[in-house]
Amino acid sequence: MNAPDEPRSPEGGLFEGNLLLEALDTNDRALLAPYLERGHRARGTVLFRAGEDVSHVTFPLNQTTVTLVSRMRDGRMVETATVGHEGAVGGVVSNGYLPAFSEAVVQVSGSVLRLDAERLTRARAASPSLRDLFVRYADCLLAQVLQSVACNAVHPIEERCLRWLLTFQDRLGTPVLPVTQEMLAEMLGVRRTYLTGVLGALQRRGLISVRRGQITILDRAVAEQSACECYGKVRHHFRTVLGAVYAESGAIVAVDPTRRHDD
Ligand SMILES: [Zn+2]
Repeated sequence: MNAPDEPRSPEGGLFEGNLLLEALDTNDRALLAPYLERGHRARGTVLFRAGEDVSHVTFPLNQTTVTLVSRMRDGRMVETATVGHEGAVGGVVSNGYLPAFSEAVVQVSGSVLRLDAERLTRARAASPSLRDLFVRYADCLLAQVLQSVACNAVHPIEERCLRWLLTFQDRLGTPVLPVTQEMLAEMLGVRRTYLTGVLGALQRRGLISVRRGQITILDRAVAEQSACECYGKVRHHFRTVLGAVYAESGAIVAVDPTRRHDD
């Protein structure tokens, strides 16, 4: 079942499946390779909680997706950023072993690579190119969060919902999204019954189809036009700052645009 996650070659295979790691040059790979641990994380796994020291950096591989959420006192939680194979969570913006501000929850199960946060801190200190890549990624992650603040304040729920679905499609590389209505309502911070009406409206417009535990984006082009500007704005920033670009189909492709990751 996890065949697509298997390394494709014994040498370079360790770094395959995560765009940040794939973008590292040979010297930077050598700094991290001895300390990367491969593992599997099931949906719902909490990688770290707010206030806990971040001991490890987690790199989602292939379709594995993690959301950073803010949890309120009454138990409600809202997504602040979604991270897939284009990035990493934990010790990205700060150095490791500092308290996390948000909670990181696995949304789509799959393989990850894990690195002791202290090892990444040391590697950043030793290598300007590695540091530069992670600073650029941190900037993109921050852009995603900043735009979400503005988006949540001013954009209608239909447009926000499309933005989230498109972003999720980019992370997964497929229009068929393993999303339950409960999960989506939680991510968007709305009631499930309210979301059902929103999804129904999008479905009647022919943009998506909704099945139990699954939402499919049927018309990517119209969905992009109908989503709020936040989707394109964040994508443009990723493309400009990180060089990891989105293919026409919507799937993120690596820094080397001739290589695809959704196969
Ligand atoms: Zn928006």
